[in-house]
Parts: sequence; C-alpha cells; structure tokens
Amino acid sequence: MSVPEITLNDGTRIPQLGYGTFKVPADDAQRAVSEALELGYRHIDTAAVYGNEQGVGAAIAASGIPRDELFVTTKLWNDRHDGDQPRAALGESLERLGLEQVDLYLIHWPTPAKDDYLHAWQRLIELRADGLARSIGVSNFLVPHLEKIVTATGVVPAVDQIELHPAHQQPAVTAWAAAHDVRIESWGPLGQGKYDLFGTPAVAGAAAAHGKTPAQVVIRWHLQHGYILFPKSVHRERLAENIDVFDFVLTDDEVAAIDALEPGDGSGRVSAHPDEVN
Ligand code: NAD
Repeated sequence: MSVPEITLNDGTRIPQLGYGTFKVPADDAQRAVSEALELGYRHIDTAAVYGNEQGVGAAIAASGIPRDELFVTTKLWNDRHDGDQPRAALGESLERLGLEQVDLYLIHWPTPAKDDYLHAWQRLIELRADGLARSIGVSNFLVPHLEKIVTATGVVPAVDQIELHPAHQQPAVTAWAAAHDVRIESWGPLGQGKYDLFGTPAVAGAAAAHGKTPAQVVIRWHLQHGYILFPKSVHRERLAENIDVFDFVLTDDEVAAIDALEPGDGSGRVSAHPDEVN
C-alpha cells in the first residue's frame, strides 16, 4: 500500500511518512537517498546544517522521478535569521539541492535569546510569495514562539517539526497545533535510539501481536496520531522495514498503552530544549 498524503493548511499535500537525513554523512547521502527513493519514499527531510543537501540533490537528479512526485524539506540555520540572510540561505540550499523550489522551508530553531525568529518568519512569508518555497513552517517552536509569529503576521505555519516520541509527547504544542490547523512533524520519532523504547511491554507486545517489528509499531503509533514523520537509517533493510507499515493497524488499546509511556513532566526529552538553543 502506498504512503498516505496529508493536506496542509495552505492546500499543499505531503506524504505522511518520509526519510529523514540528520547525521546521514555527506559522502553517503546520495547512496542512502537513492535507496530510499527506490524503496518508495517520496518525502525527504534535510537541513542546511546537516551538510548533505548536495547528496540529496544528486540522488533526486539521478532518480528520474518527476519533480512533482517528490516532497523536499530543508531548513534555515540559526545564524541566518537576520537581515536578508534567509533569502541568501534558501538560495544556497536550492543550489546545493539542484532545485528551483523546495516543498517546505522551515525555521530550524526559534533561538529565542536572539529574538530574531519573527523577522525570519516575515522573510519566509516573502520567500513563499516569491515561489521559492511551496509551504513554510517552523521547527522546535513552543507555544509562546508560535503565538508570537501568528499574532504579528496572521500567517499560520503549515507545520511545526518538534521532538516527539512516546516518552515525549509535547501535549501543549500538539493541542495548540490542532486548534490552529498546524500539522505536527515528529522528529526523533524512534527516540533517536536513546532509551529502551522498543523493549517496553507496550511496544514489544504490540509487535508480537501483529508480527511486526518494534520500530514498525512506533511508526504506526505516530501515523495513527496523525503526525508526519521521517525516521532515519542508513541501512537498506531498515529503510525497507520503516516504510512497510501499511498492512496493519494498532488497536485503540495498543495506542493507549504507548501513550501511557509519557512521564508527564517533560523528562522524556532526549535532545535540546528549544529555549536553550541559540
Ligand atoms: P530517529 O528517532 O529517526 O532515530 C534514528 C535512529 O533510530 C537510527 O540512527 C537508528 O539507530 C535507529 N533506527 C532507525 N530505524 C530503525 C529500525 N527499523 N530498527 C531499529 N532501529 C532503527 O531520530 P532522528 O534521525 O533524529 O529523527 C528523524 C529525522 O527528524 C532526522 O533524520 C531529521 O530529518 C529530523 N530531525 C529534525 C530535528 C530538528 O531540530 N528539526 C532534529 C533531529 C532530527
């Protein structure tokens, strides 16, 4: 079965499951993305700071897949929020990707201590109007950051890409997003392998019940919550495994058991707090 698409608040359609390239080395990116495309992935998530946009672009060019069948996201790095830097940075990303337009351009982190993310958001609105990005959104924005850009501009981001996995479910941001028609993209959807998610009875039990792997169960949990995700691997067999998730459905009880892995106090975060990245 093929990957379902979600319609964003600006009408753009995005494949709900994609391939994430954080920590995919520059010299391996073309091989890894080519394999992902062969296996049926059509949504690739990269970022200027990942250093692998050129390899992503080379794989896209070599694939022969029509541009309108692909969905490519990249991100504005933290030191390029000010002045005309967002336009220059996107131009450089497009050059490296070999594309004339990205499907989604994100502010990578709000960097609140610098207080320049509203300026960056205003620039992204212009870049979308100029056709350089089909959709625009944010990443690692918490509710105060979202409120600030929407109040000032009236433009609601298409997505907020945040750390989200069973031990860190971000209830405040997901509730705000649902109320404002912003789609959540889960980064670190498998917890980046930093805690024993796959060995929990909730995940392992569902995997045994369905004859699937724990990773496939966690990917289904995100999909059934309506989240967009793009797990990362550089191994072909795992790339294949991670997209082979459309032949089973978790029961409501299985989803609830995984929901219950959230400790409720924010302690399940495995990476940086957005207020502390500047
Ligand atoms: P992830 O949760 O996808 O974990 C990736 C790790 O999980 C891999 O390195 C591998 O060790 C393991 N894994 C993958 N498939 C597996 C399988 N089938 N079985 C067992 N283990 C498996 O973490 P991530 O890569 O950090 O997040 C996914 C994507 O999200 C990134 O590649 C990137 O595109 C994006 N991201 C964005 C931000 C941001 O600040 N916006 C931050 C981190 C990641």
